[in-house]
Amino acid sequence: MAAPPIRIYGDPVLRTEAKQVRELDAEVHDLVERMTAVMCENEGVGLAGPQLGSQLRVIVARPDTEEDTEIFRLINPRIIAAEGSQEGMEGCLSLPSLRGEVERSAQVAVEAITPEGKNITIEATGLLARVFEHEIDHLNSVLFVDRAAADTLCWLIPDPDAEEGYRLEETTIEEAEQRFARLRAKRQAQGGAQQ
Ligand code: ZN
Repeated sequence: MAAPPIRIYGDPVLRTEAKQVRELDAEVHDLVERMTAVMCENEGVGLAGPQLGSQLRVIVARPDTEEDTEIFRLINPRIIAAEGSQEGMEGCLSLPSLRGEVERSAQVAVEAITPEGKNITIEATGLLARVFEHEIDHLNSVLFVDRAAADTLCWLIPDPDAEEGYRLEETTIEEAEQRFARLRAKRQAQGGAQQ
């Protein structure tokens, strides 16, 4: 089986600032399609270009994982206004199973271009605002663990005996780094075309 295409913490592309998209060419359209598919397959609420190894400023996002939810596909997104604050747990497909509490703006306005070339401004609150902030951070090589309160980092472990179907186990960034390094090494050993 091919290695999943999502880049894992420790991959240099996640720490490289992404570049402005200059032209809405086939490469960009193909990237948007792949990002949408990978986000949906993994039941994520957002994904940024670097997570698939691209250095282009492209994100996809949705306010929840329901099938008929509107998906935002944004090129060169940028936060032009932010207000208030919200606390909440975050995770990331590039840091599988890790969670941490991150303070974000409660409300943001995002300016972007659609894949069709239209300039748009989106006002978002709550989870969608959080997702936009998280994904635009990715384009600037910032990961949620950089912003998370250190004492809130934990592993989400599936647990059929727990009421919510999972339990949380405290961890540290050092332990998480070691686990993701092992995960990357394992994937590389399995055929590593993605790395
Ligand atoms: Zn992420």
